[in-house]
Amino acid sequence: MATLPELNHSDDATITTFGPPFDDTNADVILRSSDRVDFLVYEVILSKASPVFKTMFSLPQPATDAHHTPQDSRPIVVLAEHGRVVAALLLTIYPPTLVSAGAGPLSLNDHIAVLDMARKYDMAATSRRLLVDFEGSEALRNDHLQAFCAAYGCELPEAAKIAAKASLKHPFTLDAIGDDLQYINGPAFHTLWKFHRACSTAAVKAISGHTYTWIPNIWWSSSSVRCRCSKIGLSLGPTLSYWATNASWGKYVDRAVKALKTHPCSEAITDRAILLPSYQVPQAEMCGECGRQIAGLSEFSRYLGEEVDRVSPT
Ligand SMILES: [Zn+2]
Repeated sequence: MATLPELNHSDDATITTFGPPFDDTNADVILRSSDRVDFLVYEVILSKASPVFKTMFSLPQPATDAHHTPQDSRPIVVLAEHGRVVAALLLTIYPPTLVSAGAGPLSLNDHIAVLDMARKYDMAATSRRLLVDFEGSEALRNDHLQAFCAAYGCELPEAAKIAAKASLKHPFTLDAIGDDLQYINGPAFHTLWKFHRACSTAAVKAISGHTYTWIPNIWWSSSSVRCRCSKIGLSLGPTLSYWATNASWGKYVDRAVKALKTHPCSEAITDRAILLPSYQVPQAEMCGECGRQIAGLSEFSRYLGEEVDRVSPT
């Protein structure tokens, strides 16, 4: 359990108050952030959200009022976190009927700091909500690599896992990372690199071999083309129906496998640049019927992409 924060008293005119919804005159506790912003809050709400606060408020209060201001007998809890972080956490635990607006977009550092604070105060349910917010955040979208390193560095495994998954949407190469390399935590980078390698291995294995049991053999299984074009054979569906089709499908799979080695996610193999060469095959290599079938390659790529995302290690 975390060390209980210090109870203190106000003697500094530089202290400001956060304002609504943390300015009720009836509130019975004052939380003071590291940048000296006061939040007037209700003990019962904090106790419901956090066993640490519950324990703190159950302890006998000092016999004298040395920890209270001369004008205000409410206990003051001095926190190590910045006011932005305290506000974001309180807005998450306060009843929606008391909150007119959310905390607004948080920076990456503030997201991590709020998650760290929720852990420090043993707020399991709040942490889950914060992780959902983090997963959908602009901060994560904008800087997945730093997000992973920050979560890893703060030993927040759930947040690190979310950031690692988000990083799969981007190629993992030194050129792609570029100048960010100079700021990266080495052990974190190594851990993320191993995760990407494991995802690449699983993804490549899933789509190599031309056997795709998860693809329904609806329209392509019954339409093997009888022509003189160069062909490959694919086995589709749970019954492994054999489908002979133009070699351009196999060349697409080859390009997809290559892409997955540095970028193991569905977006990498449904990308237009990966598909396009199979649509631009010279007439000598693709008859009219094969040309009509190749229109299904985009749907085929989506089926492969779904499997690639499914097989990613968690
Ligand atoms: Zn043909």
